[in-house]
Amino acid sequence: MDKKYVAPPYRIKMVEPIKMTTKNERIELLKNAGYNPFSLRSEDVYIDLLTDSGTGAMSHFQWAALMMGDEAYAGSRSFYKFEKVVKDITGYDYVIPAHQGRGAEQVALPQLVNKEGMFFISNMHFDTTRAHVELAGARALDCVIKECFDTENYHPFKGNFDLIELDHIINAKGKENIAGIIFTITNNSAGGQPVSMENLREVKKIADKYGITTLIDGARYAENAYFVKQREKGYENKTIKEIAREVFDLADIFLMSSKKDGLSNIGGLIAIKNDTDFYNKCRTYIVPMEGFPTYGGLTGRDMEALSVGLLEALEEDYLEHRLDQVRYLGDKLRDAGVPIQYPTGGHAVFVDCKKFAPHIPYYEFPAQSVSNAVYLEAGVRPVEIGSFLLGRDPDTGKNLESPLELMRLTIPRRTYTYKHLDVVAEAVIEVYKNRKSLVGLGFDYEPPVLRHFTARLIPLTK
Ligand SMILES: *Cc1c(COP(=O)(O)O)cnc(C)c1O
Repeated sequence: MDKKYVAPPYRIKMVEPIKMTTKNERIELLKNAGYNPFSLRSEDVYIDLLTDSGTGAMSHFQWAALMMGDEAYAGSRSFYKFEKVVKDITGYDYVIPAHQGRGAEQVALPQLVNKEGMFFISNMHFDTTRAHVELAGARALDCVIKECFDTENYHPFKGNFDLIELDHIINAKGKENIAGIIFTITNNSAGGQPVSMENLREVKKIADKYGITTLIDGARYAENAYFVKQREKGYENKTIKEIAREVFDLADIFLMSSKKDGLSNIGGLIAIKNDTDFYNKCRTYIVPMEGFPTYGGLTGRDMEALSVGLLEALEEDYLEHRLDQVRYLGDKLRDAGVPIQYPTGGHAVFVDCKKFAPHIPYYEFPAQSVSNAVYLEAGVRPVEIGSFLLGRDPDTGKNLESPLELMRLTIPRRTYTYKHLDVVAEAVIEVYKNRKSLVGLGFDYEPPVLRHFTARLIPLTK
């Protein structure tokens, strides 16, 4: 790239005011929130980097499309428009909308589990995907390359499958017990890290060798395609759509949370290459779970906005800017010595809090401590992805230790300016300078499942 940083390829037409609170107010607000940023009200957050899911800005084309929504219960015109766009992008035969990614998962995944003791294998399952694999009575196994856990060192595709491990798992568990191989692109949980086309081709070869179904968990498939274009030999001159199509050709089923690369606030989908039987199963099952197969939990106007958003997310100037914002924030932090998952991935900067606050043990949640300090510093809301989120071993009741203690600074699409990112960087750097004063956290209230959403914590003063 000949440009250092890229100005946004859009201008602002409508604004949503946000306000900075004072430090004293934030001390009180965080205390009332039980030292858990999930419990803060969004109006008490200045810059909200909790997630990039459904938090982006729609274009004026999308807002205009909303007016075209056909709200018919069955056979809506908006569905046929949406279906055409998805078929055109994927090359697949069948499309079913869902209310969001987990809606698609709860409908599609159980159809692949036909007996006890089955497994899904992924480079790395996302939490909701893992949950739906388990609810379907199967187990989720991850086999990402080990470079993924080495945050300091560069690897262009830290989301890649470990191919030897993949083959090994299939042999150990028996090919007839593998319900599917899931390509998680990009690898959300490990930093939005991409998977290379070469790696996916090899995974497909292994899947074919054993006759195993391949699925794409492609919330950020467009971002993955952009990384392939930037980093993989032979793809420099292909369009994002061509690269994405090459990935779709390697799979049988595409599940998507369209709250990410669909550039909309809600939505998901199931697309199926050509398996009519599987399509019929999903079409039957979606009715009680999400809704009639031509709306799947979405309004007609949602499908209109998605039809436009899915195409906008494939535009190169948009992707260039999006990934540049993430890189920009990552560079600022790295230049100041803050340890991050490097290189930065598609949707967030992941700060390595095992290195940031090594004096806080995993069971006192170092990344949660850093996140709280960043909120106190500047009203910025990050999210913890580490041992606090991971929870306890269901058998022993002990806190599990996450391989990585990460603070995720997730960048919503088309929403914040570089100046906002400067504020974020300054806040994190300030906290880093005072990192020795950070303290761990203990529980005040711990819910039995998915504790990170509603737990209340207390700082452990030494
Ligand atoms: C967000 C996400 C999901 C779940 O989608 P929701 O829309 O949040 O239900 C599944 N897989 C990946 C990789 C995701 O990033």
